[in-house]
Amino acid sequence: MKALFLDRDGVTIDYIPYLSRPEQVSLPEGAGEALKIWQDEGYQLVIVTNQSGISRGYFSLEDVEEIHQRIVEEYRSFGVEFADILICPHQPSDNCQCRKPSPYLLLNYSEKENIDLSQSWFMGDAPSDIECAINAGCQPVLLLTGRGKETQEKLPNYKVSISIFENLSDTLDLVISKKRP
Ligand SMILES: [Mg+2]
Ligand SMILES: [Zn+2]
Repeated sequence: MKALFLDRDGVTIDYIPYLSRPEQVSLPEGAGEALKIWQDEGYQLVIVTNQSGISRGYFSLEDVEEIHQRIVEEYRSFGVEFADILICPHQPSDNCQCRKPSPYLLLNYSEKENIDLSQSWFMGDAPSDIECAINAGCQPVLLLTGRGKETQEKLPNYKVSISIFENLSDTLDLVISKKRP
């Protein structure tokens, strides 16, 4: 199996810092159609998100689950089904093992679901997403949505090449180009 791992804020939904209510959820233009095509290409869609607002007391895990329910419903209208949503609820001072850029959540999920990480992608808008992808051994993609432009400006030289796209729709080049002879 192969997976498309997706950051939540600034990638799967429009970026709002410490978003805390379902009404704040909005999908980026073209995102539903794009993820449907990735899904049809055989990728399991998995959201991986750091939600330190839980540990900071800004909102509860139940609040986050309501937001995720809304995200699931919005995407369902495009025929998109997420295989899972993986959450780190901690803040850096908690010294947890799951907060991105740790690859823990990806490695754990991939072992459980038999995902081949070398055939999988991780799309994010923050340095922690790119580093998480590299640490997990899957292919990193930087999207210039959310905080992506800011991230691009300070991107260090990583040992692996980073694919950069304007938005989720443009990432379809990755699946479409593979079909050419
Ligand atoms: Mg993000
Ligand atoms: Zn954590």
